[in-house]
Amino acid sequence: MTHPDFLWRNPDPRPAYDVVIVGGGGHGLATAYYLARNHGITNVAVLERGWLAGGNMARNTTIIRSNYLWDESAAIYEHSLKLWEGLSAELDYDLRFSQRGVLNLAHNLGDVREGRRRVNANRLNGVDAEWLDPDEVKKFCPIINTSGRARYPVMGATLQRRGGIAKHDHVAWALARKADAYGVDLIQGCEVTGFEILKNRVIAVQTSRGRIAAGKVALAAAGHTSVLAAQAGIRLPLQSHPLQALVSELLEPVLDCVVMSNAVHVYVSQAHKGELVMGAGIDAYNSYGQRGNVHVIEAQMAAALELFPIFSRVRVLRTWAGIVDVSPDASPIIGRTPVDGLYINAGWGTGGFKATPGSGWVYADTIAHGRPHPLAEPFALERFTTGALIDEHGAAAVAH
Ligand SMILES: Cc1cc2nc3c(=O)[nH]c(=O)nc-3n(C[C@H](O)[C@H](O)[C@H](O)COP(=O)(O)OP(=O)(O)OC[C@H]3O[C@@H](n4cnc5c(N)ncnc54)[C@H](O)[C@@H]3O)c2cc1C
Repeated sequence: MTHPDFLWRNPDPRPAYDVVIVGGGGHGLATAYYLARNHGITNVAVLERGWLAGGNMARNTTIIRSNYLWDESAAIYEHSLKLWEGLSAELDYDLRFSQRGVLNLAHNLGDVREGRRRVNANRLNGVDAEWLDPDEVKKFCPIINTSGRARYPVMGATLQRRGGIAKHDHVAWALARKADAYGVDLIQGCEVTGFEILKNRVIAVQTSRGRIAAGKVALAAAGHTSVLAAQAGIRLPLQSHPLQALVSELLEPVLDCVVMSNAVHVYVSQAHKGELVMGAGIDAYNSYGQRGNVHVIEAQMAAALELFPIFSRVRVLRTWAGIVDVSPDASPIIGRTPVDGLYINAGWGTGGFKATPGSGWVYADTIAHGRPHPLAEPFALERFTTGALIDEHGAAAVAH
């Protein structure tokens, strides 16, 4: 039983489980939760080499939206957004989920065409979407500089009113608490170092805390997935990059929506506590260090000031980075691998926080039934050999 003062137990690993999940970030925890809740599979361990949510889960800028261009993406992210809408009640935990609206700004005619096309595509897919002209943008978010003399003038924006933010550490704690209550073992300080594979079937993982036998093994290790998969002889089309973010000192309420601009490359919201939360683009090189370079932050600040001159005297409080796993078409990989019993959920890159419940839902279903969930089917690893890519690079999904 969980001690009333703690949200979850801290068990030692048992010698064997039906399912071993590698990675205790949001996706690993959500997968464990839905395996138990939806499929009654509770003989499950989540193995985390550090501490729960010490990876990207508690480093992201928490933007949640579902206004992706392609049908396959809209379907899985909208499934996730619908789950978010009931998640605080379901997990009995205030996730600070706030549907305050997400603006994606357009700064040139190409952006305008892309934005309008995406609004139409979203509506056809039942995703709420609006196109705002510059005056409407100013009305919705008065502190944005919409002057025609700006270096990157605001020429309009897409708006998803159901988009917003949530508090990422609360999400991790809430999922962990529920998974634990179902009997899932959450094992921290336990690094997976290799796999035992017999006749092309995974039968166990080797860990820093010994061998653990497993009926099925599910990777949910974000930026470290390609390193792990290589231990099982699988070469993945993933590149790991640092992605930086920062927060300002605490301010009075000044920004009550989320503003994203791919062209100037900055993403801003104001957290419940009062700090401005800003994300940048990826650092261009590959790395596994959870830190990035200052020139990226400098460019991000210049972009933020271009859009919000009102922030010119605000001080930066803290910067950090996470390691994101970027796939060639900027879409995730969910499903089976060439090794029987070994499953993959990766490639969410700079935008997987919003997918946390949806990803956990379809991954758990895929693992439970040994075949892809219908929403996961288009995101199979095979698409990189068949060529059936879901290219979100040029569209809305570039970041966050
Ligand atoms: C700065 C930044 C801003 C972002 N902003 C947004 C945003 O606004 N909106 C959005 O939707 N997404 C955003 N993202 C992306 C999002 O955070 C990720 O896509 C998502 O968190 C990945 O899934 P996860 O939570 O399971 O990953 P993680 O939390 O990284 O979980 C993976 C876990 O696996 C563990 N692990 C790795 N190797 C091993 C091993 N060998 N053995 C055991 N455990 C291992 C790691 O320690 C880690 O805890 C952002 C990311 C960053 C870094």
